[in-house]
Amino acid sequence: MTVTAVVGANWGDEGKGKITDYLARDMDFVVRFQGGSNAGHTILNEFGKFALHMLPSGVFYPHVHNVLGPGVALNIVGLAKELQYLKDHGLVPSFFHISDRAQVVLPVHILLDQAEEMRLGANQFGSTRSGIAPFYADKFLKIGVQVADLFFKDRLRQRIERNLALKNFLLPTAYQLPIQDPLEITEIVSHYADVIAPFVCDTTLLLHDALKNNQGILLEGQLGALRDPDHGIYPFTTSSSPLAGFASVGAGIPPYAIRRIIAVTKAYSTCVGAGPFVTELMGPESNALRERGGDAGEYGATTGRPRRVGWFDAVATRYGCMIQGATEVALTNLDVLSYREEIPIATAYTLGDKTTTQFPPTAELSQAQPVFEVMPGWRTDITSIQHYEDLPPSARQYVERIETLIDTKIRYISVGPQRKQIVIKP
Ligand code: GDP
Repeated sequence: MTVTAVVGANWGDEGKGKITDYLARDMDFVVRFQGGSNAGHTILNEFGKFALHMLPSGVFYPHVHNVLGPGVALNIVGLAKELQYLKDHGLVPSFFHISDRAQVVLPVHILLDQAEEMRLGANQFGSTRSGIAPFYADKFLKIGVQVADLFFKDRLRQRIERNLALKNFLLPTAYQLPIQDPLEITEIVSHYADVIAPFVCDTTLLLHDALKNNQGILLEGQLGALRDPDHGIYPFTTSSSPLAGFASVGAGIPPYAIRRIIAVTKAYSTCVGAGPFVTELMGPESNALRERGGDAGEYGATTGRPRRVGWFDAVATRYGCMIQGATEVALTNLDVLSYREEIPIATAYTLGDKTTTQFPPTAELSQAQPVFEVMPGWRTDITSIQHYEDLPPSARQYVERIETLIDTKIRYISVGPQRKQIVIKP
């Protein structure tokens, strides 16, 4: 079987959780390769409604091996809560594996993330405050803590002393916060080992064996292409790469093994946090779309914050599909637009006296204005449609226009938040 990556084409929240949950039925492994509890994948299926932050979206299938690869930011407190939440709903993942090389989010990462956003005040990034930026900063400063370190107490203490050395200058001076005692933190963190011990292994080896055995592997991305630190809307990006290209690194599989790259995009745009967002709607029009969007309005699955909403941005999405290397697209939330008489799509941007269809760097993007093309709406409920030819002609016209503009085949069309509400485009 081929390896499939399910990744975001935009700013995140595209509906990757739903698509992963749908595709996981036919997979043997579902792997998270980057990010941490800042993710919020909403999944509605026969077991109920779940917002997964740490766990891969394959946990609802008893046959699926769920893997947190070396590239993830492992929040063990969050993970324990999520496992408990599943247990309360009668669900215990049959196979769950955590890479012994993944690194651990420390309490100080969360503290610093919160303190820094507060210090920035009006200029804050809109971080989910789950410690992700300080975590990845430490990883690349080489002062992080690997999962394997948790099982060697002396080593763990040394790693934590090293980690906290500079921070204990910073905390009282920059943030007026008390210093952290390395011994106390070592005690707290060493208990994390008990929570994860049954799941820890060399997941890279596991996945290489799976490849040899021709098993199905799905790599589940978090956030979207425009949040990539290199290719996205820097500095309003995340701190790890959400690109399929990075999936091989963060999961530990050969790059050439990934054959299908499914870029997920919504039929309109949403964006959480700060940064340029060219098609953004304001006022009553934005409220009308936000209240109808997703499964219960467009509010962040991790933070509950209202998402910024706008019309479909073909410039940003074509770029997102390009940098993901998308072989196909899943278009979600098409049903949400059923209330509209007419639906605008941004086909280009104006930048001063220039018009462009290319996605510019952030400095120019902030000046960009959308050029809209208006498509007819369909004004009918499409949530129970199962076959492409049964969609109203103007809904198909909308899908096909997007397909042309983003230069990538649309394979899946999601017409509701439930697993079964999906149409395969022939
Ligand atoms: P993810 O992080 O990419 O998995 O996306 P989120 O879960 O944060 O946000 C997607 C939202 O859209 C969630 O509320 C989903 O339940 C919802 N959703 C996914 N697909 C559809 C769809 O086709 N129609 C509707 N109405 N909601 C959908």
